[in-house]
Amino acid sequence: MTYQPIIGVEVHIELATNSKMFCGCPADYFGKEPNTNTCPVCLGLPGALPVPNKKAVEWTILLGLALNCQINKDSKFDRKNYFYPDLPKGYQISQYDQPLCYEGRVMVGDKEIRITRVHLEEDTGKLQHTEIGGEKVSLVDFNRSGVPLVEVVTEPDFRTIEEVDLFLKKLQRIVRYLGISSADMEKGSMRLEPSISITNQLTTDYRLQPLPKYRVELKNINSFRFARKALEYETKRQTELLEKGETPTQQTRGWSEDKSATVPQREKEEANDYRYFAEPDIPPMSFTDDQISQIRSHLPELPEAKSLRLQAEYNLTPNNADILNEDRLTADYFEEAVRVSRQIPEVENPDLVKEIANWIINKKVDIQNTVPGELIKQLLQTKSTSQVNRSELEEIIDKVLRENPQAVADYKNGRKAAIGLLIGAVLKIIKANPQTITEIIQSKLEVQ
Ligand code: ZN
Ligand code: MN
Repeated sequence: MTYQPIIGVEVHIELATNSKMFCGCPADYFGKEPNTNTCPVCLGLPGALPVPNKKAVEWTILLGLALNCQINKDSKFDRKNYFYPDLPKGYQISQYDQPLCYEGRVMVGDKEIRITRVHLEEDTGKLQHTEIGGEKVSLVDFNRSGVPLVEVVTEPDFRTIEEVDLFLKKLQRIVRYLGISSADMEKGSMRLEPSISITNQLTTDYRLQPLPKYRVELKNINSFRFARKALEYETKRQTELLEKGETPTQQTRGWSEDKSATVPQREKEEANDYRYFAEPDIPPMSFTDDQISQIRSHLPELPEAKSLRLQAEYNLTPNNADILNEDRLTADYFEEAVRVSRQIPEVENPDLVKEIANWIINKKVDIQNTVPGELIKQLLQTKSTSQVNRSELEEIIDKVLRENPQAVADYKNGRKAAIGLLIGAVLKIIKANPQTITEIIQSKLEVQ
């Protein structure tokens, strides 16, 4: 019998706003002393009132638009009730039946992945399980409590782990492009929760495939690699159960890197266990068409469109366009460098664009500290060196070696650093590529 995984994902992304979701505390809690980044609102003290962060709402809509979602003109916050020590109020302010964004779609290769919803909520505190004086304790740090958190939920449209991987990477790149989050999984600002079940009821249209009666949710996976491993493990585990005629239990599991296995965490609550109801302390939100187009006008050119344009406009290979476009800064830097190079009248070189691209890719240019103009200067200098008459350069080097016998002797006696003095002496006479000079000097001193 043929079995097939059916996978959907939920992704939580912390927004990089200045302040938290419902109070004025800084949203950036990373590395801070526990419980120093809090106030009565994010500690859930009685009487404290939440005030929504406008930027977080706009950024959530921006992400929704980037994922081709519909925007709810009438939206609201709801209370999601559950008891857990990292949640001081006993409920999380989230969104239930009127999320900011719904019914989006993202292409993964040729396949459309449907986005169920994109909603906004608050992050919880963080538990630390440790030992004090030989006693096992759980400590709570509320620094993260109330940080704006966007949740992206897909339909169960994935049929291979490869599709999931491509989607997650694409989502991360879009989020970074929008500049709304670092989406850094090591720091927990992007967290993955795939759900997986296995079926043997195959259909031609994945959208019409009947869903199994159970699903296993994988919680708080903090790297793409762990997501892949956990999904591979679950595919195997669940298929084996089905082959024995058993049905896997509906539950939540986590990935244990030590055991190289998923481990059960808890049986899954049903949605109505959360007793959702409208948050009475925050008025509902409504958006006009104008407000939504205003937000849409902040949408930058998105990664895939940009890769295609880079290929077309600069005649780059798909692979090079993609490497340059790994992040928005590098892609912008490349385009700026090309623009600068075109302003230099004496540069008449049809290959220059390709060379700029190769230079940025292969030399790993430090784009934070090298302005594009400087890059072009370096590139042209190197090129002119290669055109300097090689024999002329060798003559100069021979002369320098004759005039600096001590440095030559030092080098030959193993003080390799002495080569620096020789290179310096050559550069005083001729502007040439230090790398080329080094190679020539080395070859001469090796044979002498
Ligand atoms: Zn606060
Ligand atoms: Mn959530």
